[in-house]
Order: sequence, then structure tokens, then C-alpha cells
Amino acid sequence: MAGEPQDDCLFCKIVAKEVPATVVRETETTLAFRDINPQAPTHVLVIPKVHHPDAASLAAAEPAAAADVLREAGEVAAQEQADSYRIVFNTGSGAGQTVFHAHAHVLGGRGLQWPPG
Ligand code: IMP
Repeated sequence: MAGEPQDDCLFCKIVAKEVPATVVRETETTLAFRDINPQAPTHVLVIPKVHHPDAASLAAAEPAAAADVLREAGEVAAQEQADSYRIVFNTGSGAGQTVFHAHAHVLGGRGLQWPPG
């Protein structure tokens, strides 16, 4: 069922604490942890605890949870003292999405180029 934990989902396993992660913030509905392969001095993933395959699906099914992810992305940036930062939702394998559980990348701590590659 939509939103339910998926047995084969890495981020559901991180939510369940079955896979370790370096957690930087946690709320009732979200978890924020450091990316295992950081692309910037600050590279934190913010995920909803519910499972949806990407950000748009999350927003369509559970808009309050999507808003929680965005708010927490800002809180992470503030906690990391990143006054300029980027929030990225890779969507689809062609855009670089490799984990199909909605997540925001929060990137900061260095200059960021535009357009992204
Ligand atoms: P995507 O490519 O946009 O789907 O982002 C998935 C991100 O998850 C990548 O940046 C990976 O480096 C990161 N990642 C994969 N496995 C782990 C893990 O076990 N802990 C933390 N980050 C992970």
C-alpha cells in the first residue's frame, strides 16, 4: 500500500534503524542523515518516513509530509550554517535517481554551479 515500508527499500531500512546512518535531525515524520558519498561539505539527505518513490508522488499522496521534508531541509541548512545551499530532488534514473524513496539532497558549504550537470 502507498506509504507503507517496502522490504527492498534502503531508506525504509534506515528509517527502521536496520541500516546505520549518521542522523543529523529527526522528527515524527522525517529523518535527515549524511549522504554516504558526499558531493559538498554539507550533503544531507532529508527523507519522509513514509515510503513514496519520488518527491512528486509524495507531494500528491501526502502533501503535509512533503512540506515537512522541505521545512526540514531548511532546518538542516541552518544547523549546518550554510547560508547558500541547494535542495535537489533527482527524479527518475535519467536524472540520477538511484534510491526510489523520496529524498531531498541538501548541498552546501561550497560554491555551486548553474546549470547542474
Ligand atoms: P539519488 O541518486 O538522488 O537517488 O540519491 C541517493 C543518494 O543516496 C546518493 O547520493 C547516495 O550516495 C546516497 N546513499 C546511498 N546509500 C546510502 C546510505 O546507506 N547512507 C547514506 N546515503 C546513501
